[in-house]
Amino acid sequence: MKVAAFCTSGIKVPGKALAVLVFFAFIFFNAHAQGDSSDSSHNFLVGRTTITYKSTCHGTQSGVVFISLHENEETAAVTANRFLDSLGSHCLVQLVHDKQRLLSVSFLGKTYRLDPNRMWSKQGLEANLRYLNKRFPDELVTQLQRHTLRFRKQFFFNRRLVVALHNNTNNGFSVRSFMKGGGNYQDALEVHLNPAHDPDNFFIVTEQPHFTHLKQLGYSVVLHKRKTSFDDGSLSFLCARNNIPYINAEVEEGNSEKQSEMLMVIHDLINTRLNDQSTSRN
Ligand SMILES: [Zn+2]
Repeated sequence: MKVAAFCTSGIKVPGKALAVLVFFAFIFFNAHAQGDSSDSSHNFLVGRTTITYKSTCHGTQSGVVFISLHENEETAAVTANRFLDSLGSHCLVQLVHDKQRLLSVSFLGKTYRLDPNRMWSKQGLEANLRYLNKRFPDELVTQLQRHTLRFRKQFFFNRRLVVALHNNTNNGFSVRSFMKGGGNYQDALEVHLNPAHDPDNFFIVTEQPHFTHLKQLGYSVVLHKRKTSFDDGSLSFLCARNNIPYINAEVEEGNSEKQSEMLMVIHDLINTRLNDQSTSRN
């Protein structure tokens, strides 16, 4: 929500008008505080493009942040917003970019496209810019990296867990992508596939205890490696190499019911097992 700035410079405001102004300011402030949640926008300028993240926090700070980077994956963000609102806990950070999956950045007179879930390492960022634009200036990489660093300082400081929210399409990216013959096979340390479930609905985690827990519950789940020869710049790699516990709930687009169920599983895990994080794996 944007608020018009009130400018009173050089204007005499009568006492009665000022009282009305204060009253409406009070109403506005309380509307934001309703339900013990707060909204804020965080803007990062890259070239001539403002990259905006909307943060909605509920209740007291839990040390857990939910992140939606692909704005076109609507089921994930809408379901999470509703879920966290009903829970009255945690923060949701959403990249806002005209409902598009890819970021378009205007830089030195040209427009460059990039996947916001491929910009979290220099290696992945450069590979993605090359893939989508062929050529790009080094300064663009520098500025994008500066923005991701500022994002991390803003949203990852003191976090106990990062929860990524994604939707995929039928017969595309799935838990099978991390199995032999799949495009992400090299990223997985361990994979559990429940053949009774739709392979599009699964978790990706960076902590062994989380993997074991979700496997025991019967979910398909991938344990992400800490390091591989190629870091594709996704948030999972960033969290894995910085020892930030990470869970990605991958759900087929449109399946709000499954997304809610998996968010509830994560919520239970936060309450019961978050202090049981082990760093025993490589
Ligand atoms: Zn996504």
